[in-house]
Amino acid sequence: MATKEFHLTEAQAAATRQGFNFCPMCGTPMETRHVFGQNRRVCPNSECHFVQFLDPKLTTAVFAEKEGKVLLVKRTMNPGKGSWCFPGGFMEMNESPQASAIRECKEETGFDVEITGLVDVFYYQDYRGSGVAIMYRGKIVGGHATHNPVEVETVGLFGPDELPEPIVFESNLQTLAAWQAGKL
Ligand SMILES: [Zn+2]
Repeated sequence: MATKEFHLTEAQAAATRQGFNFCPMCGTPMETRHVFGQNRRVCPNSECHFVQFLDPKLTTAVFAEKEGKVLLVKRTMNPGKGSWCFPGGFMEMNESPQASAIRECKEETGFDVEITGLVDVFYYQDYRGSGVAIMYRGKIVGGHATHNPVEVETVGLFGPDELPEPIVFESNLQTLAAWQAGKL
């Protein structure tokens, strides 16, 4: 199904992080109060007292190799438009992180990967808010290079001495540096 491209401006992204205007439990206008150590959106209705806890987003990515080369995608969207990174994206509610990484890789590159390990778990902040990126290690076990033109301009396999530029995301830079140094 075709989906409309939807890009948040920085101001819109900031607004989504300010929390609910109305209580999702009882509909009362929410207030900002200092509770549990931080300013949070709180329902002032004494019968309700719903507190909104804002969480980081979860993303998954896969450092997938084939014959000593690593799979990268060139992004068509911000953040990092025009830059290269590992295939990955936001985790859905109804899937495991491993399944998320496998799905994102298939959608963005056409390749089937098998998860073989965990590289690391990274924290990041950008204009959309904060997030946790789970970086898996994987190997390509099938499929062939295609790409999702909405998100990805092109797909490539690169050896440690032939990486394209620029690479985006601190987690990707750290992982590739470790790989080039023979530590992965
Ligand atoms: Zn309420």
